[in-house]
Amino acid sequence: MEASKLKHFKQLLLGELGRHAQHVSDDQAAALDAAGEDAKESADLSLRDVIQEIALKLGDQESQMVADIDQALMRIEEGSYGKCVRCGKPIDERRLEAMPTARYDADCQAAIEDAKGMNARPTL
Ligand SMILES: [Zn+2]
Repeated sequence: MEASKLKHFKQLLLGELGRHAQHVSDDQAAALDAAGEDAKESADLSLRDVIQEIALKLGDQESQMVADIDQALMRIEEGSYGKCVRCGKPIDERRLEAMPTARYDADCQAAIEDAKGMNARPTL
């Protein structure tokens, strides 16, 4: 994926993170801002530290979302962002726009959900 697009999705992910992080300290907010500006070295806290602290304050479901965002940011750093982790094909960008933490392309997502559906026991 092109650097300009990666930056765009990084901003989306950081924005998403900000929505889950309404009670961050000034230091943490500064670190999030710095990460968005690609100036992470100048922040006192690393983005990873901030994400972990945010996740600690949240309930299970929200901290799972924060963990997904964290993993997506890591994939951006590793250069694997936007590729399906199951089959390696590029994930449709419209899909990433709607769900920037997406790990799978639509085909694999459907296959995984089918498999889950077959194994799932009704709980309601
Ligand atoms: Zn796939």
